[in-house]
Amino acid sequence: MLLSKVFIPTLREDPKMAECISHKLMLKAGLVSMISSGIYTYLPLGLIILRKIENIIRRRMNEEGAVELLMSALQPLEIWQQTGRDETLKEVMLKVKDRRKRELCLGPTHEEEITEIAKRFILSYKQMPLILYQIQTKFRDEARPRFGLIRSCEFIMKDAYSFDSDEEGLNISYEKMLRAYDNIFRDMSFDFVRIEADPGAMGGNFSHEFMVPAEIGEDVLCFCPKCGKYYRSSGECRDCGIKLIEKRMIEIGHIFKLGTKYSSAQSAYFLDSKGKRRPVIMGCYGIGVSRIMPAIIEQSHDSKGIVWPPCVSAFDASLLVLERENDFLYKEAFSLYEKLTGAGFDILFDERAEPAGVKFNDAYLIGSPYIIIIGKKYKGHNKFELEVRKTGEKHLFAAEQLINFLKESHNGS
Ligand SMILES: [Zn+2]
Repeated sequence: MLLSKVFIPTLREDPKMAECISHKLMLKAGLVSMISSGIYTYLPLGLIILRKIENIIRRRMNEEGAVELLMSALQPLEIWQQTGRDETLKEVMLKVKDRRKRELCLGPTHEEEITEIAKRFILSYKQMPLILYQIQTKFRDEARPRFGLIRSCEFIMKDAYSFDSDEEGLNISYEKMLRAYDNIFRDMSFDFVRIEADPGAMGGNFSHEFMVPAEIGEDVLCFCPKCGKYYRSSGECRDCGIKLIEKRMIEIGHIFKLGTKYSSAQSAYFLDSKGKRRPVIMGCYGIGVSRIMPAIIEQSHDSKGIVWPPCVSAFDASLLVLERENDFLYKEAFSLYEKLTGAGFDILFDERAEPAGVKFNDAYLIGSPYIIIIGKKYKGHNKFELEVRKTGEKHLFAAEQLINFLKESHNGS
């Protein structure tokens, strides 16, 4: 893409309202814009990254046999009355009435709606196991929206629901989702922790949480500095006998065995192999999709800007021509841009007539894994300079060498 043709409104100054590093960088790099407290627009660059994140999730969910659907954001209040959650979630639920005085809410989650779907269509044990998922916008009337997209009023979730005819089936579905989640967060290059629910709080509500260490995290885990094991409560490490250190964490995924909690309340019954009516056995599996981007940035940035892992970066590389007015350099840069694009790379070509300082600032801020530079020095050796964003390491390459280098690093990542 030509930078002059895409819409990436980067900011020169630090935004005043930024509450943490990821919030600041997302606003500065032109990924999102705050419309009102806790409500954001994804600008084009943010949307490219969001789609990459979603597609990593889709690939791993589909690999485990999960099937995608899309439920409504507007939900009738009456399905919430069946489970009593219109009361327990009333503080965060955004309610509306339409012109026919129908009582609706903007879904804060979708267990009730998916159970309604199960009730209508899952009638026999032969239709299970089944895992359905969606990637969709949800709404919460947050008392205190903060940290940008970490805690916002409108947010995107991947929520999956498993349906089984017995406990054993639920265990298999749960294992599949554990595996999918490990793969998803590994694909996203996260340093993440998977931790079982507090055994004290169990009792049918078996769950695992997926968390990433970050200073702004709202959860706290205890960490053994020797073996790296995480615990929910402080004590000392069971293996090393060492005193634990508290670490703040951001929750990015949470999976539960629900059992028949919703299916019983909403009468989602099926006929088992003996012709007996029984409530469907369910599990639910969430990922905070709109939290992933800020969580990655919290873990991967430096003083100049974002450092995207290649798997979610909007571009494979940024290409800067430092002297736009020099026809020779511009032609060489454009020819390299065409070669790279032809080889299948997504390149952000900064061909604007802007000073070098502005171009470097934007390239560092936007955070492509590689920055390719063509400037005055090119004339001496006809080589492009390539900077590895993460390490600052620099190489000089002729066009073909550069393409091979990018291909190799692409295959390696
Ligand atoms: Zn230990």
